[in-house]
Amino acid sequence: MGIRLSDGDRICIIGGGPAGSFAALQLLAQIDQLGMRLEVMIFEPRDFSIPGSGGCNRCAGIISTRLIHNLESLEISLPDDVIQSEIRAYSIHLNQEIMKIDRPDPEYRIVSIYRGGGPRLHPFGPVTSFDGYLLSAACARGAERIKARVIAVTWDRKPIIHTAQNRFAADLVILATGVNSRSPLGDEFGYQPPRTEIMAQDEFPLPEGWPSDQVRSYFQKPPGLVFGALIPKGSYVNISLLGRGLAADAISDFIEAHELNEDLPVSSGSLCGCTPRIAVGLAKRYFGDRWVAVGDAAVTRLYKDGIGAAFSTAEKAVHTALTVGISEAAFRKGYRPLCKEIVKDNNYGRILFRLWDLTLRFRVLMSVWVGIIKSEEDLPRSQRIHSRILWGMFTGSEPYRQLFRKLFSKGSIIPLYRSVKKDRLK
Ligand SMILES: Cc1cc2nc3c(=O)[nH]c(=O)nc-3n(C[C@H](O)[C@H](O)[C@H](O)COP(=O)(O)OP(=O)(O)OC[C@H]3O[C@@H](n4cnc5c(N)ncnc54)[C@H](O)[C@@H]3O)c2cc1C
Repeated sequence: MGIRLSDGDRICIIGGGPAGSFAALQLLAQIDQLGMRLEVMIFEPRDFSIPGSGGCNRCAGIISTRLIHNLESLEISLPDDVIQSEIRAYSIHLNQEIMKIDRPDPEYRIVSIYRGGGPRLHPFGPVTSFDGYLLSAACARGAERIKARVIAVTWDRKPIIHTAQNRFAADLVILATGVNSRSPLGDEFGYQPPRTEIMAQDEFPLPEGWPSDQVRSYFQKPPGLVFGALIPKGSYVNISLLGRGLAADAISDFIEAHELNEDLPVSSGSLCGCTPRIAVGLAKRYFGDRWVAVGDAAVTRLYKDGIGAAFSTAEKAVHTALTVGISEAAFRKGYRPLCKEIVKDNNYGRILFRLWDLTLRFRVLMSVWVGIIKSEEDLPRSQRIHSRILWGMFTGSEPYRQLFRKLFSKGSIIPLYRSVKKDRLK
């Protein structure tokens, strides 16, 4: 379709977070199979080994089952020093109750990682960065890393990349800049980043006696909170909060509201702290002749598994570029359907999170859910449908549409109906 890549062409990837490194790794694997020779450059100014915000692409750091499988397709298996904790259960903290949901299947492995060198204050030493590991893997396989910020991309028959020191003509630009910095693309590209929401995060030493394989989830308090998660990461625990209109001191309000002060003393225990943006929509005009956006800069999964979406968008964009072409029409044909599919799946996710919100508001609904999850504890893992739905929602390990179908299947509705009847007889 129109313009195509040929031997000797240069591909410039802007951003060396997961989407940028996945794009480079996919390119290098696929051109090898096709017997092509292309120059692959990644522009990334950050040193991912630095603790604190300077070296970090700020996130909770849960790696989904799907992503772990996808990494294997690139012959990447995360080394032990990158994996901080193996997560085997989620405990869901409600007003009066705690629901524990075990991993539905030992095959459903999920792990926690640090994106940079760990918290700014690091009493147990710095840690090995996931983003740094992926970027090094891309460079070891043939990508050239330019340690510089791209300050502008202009157009002169091809995209021209500008850093403070140099200019590079590109045959194809892959935009992987996420949503936490301004896009360097000039107005002529017409790119508009996705809608975002603001989250709050901090890190603490893992309190003594806390299981290191269990994520804790909290809801409703402080006002506006959609969910709060406490994620063990080696010797530390990460707090990530998503909410509407959360105050600047949301982390301390959250700790106080859930009476966690003793374990997580804000004044002496807080080790980091940031308020990053999370993408919640689709970018406008996210591809054109000789350029395409991937990862958060294009679209991501709602609230969960953003790194997994960085993988799938990078894979599809690269496959399109190599097999269909690099014109706007080629990306519309080969790449846009995947992005639209993610948007559609997110709509199912929105309905599921709304239903969960309703459940939290109405005591009767909550008592039905708690009853049903408890009754599933005696069933074989394969029959714990409702636990599996919650596990999928909170870990991002399954498409929302699949979870939605499970929720409205016979196997889910009949036990729910029985649980409602039992609750009414109490
Ligand atoms: C609080 C929070 C918690 C989250 N938790 C999870 C989770 O547990 N699991 C999960 O899978 N996802 C999670 N996400 C989502 C996840 O962080 C993103 O989906 C993921 O980082 C997207 O990767 P990316 O490469 O597209 O963007 P980023 O990770 O943002 O990477 C963009 C890169 O581009 C570089 N860059 C930017 N501008 C330029 C420029 N002009 N020139 C050169 N380089 C540039 C940046 O330095 C950065 O390295 C979370 C997000 C937030 C905010």
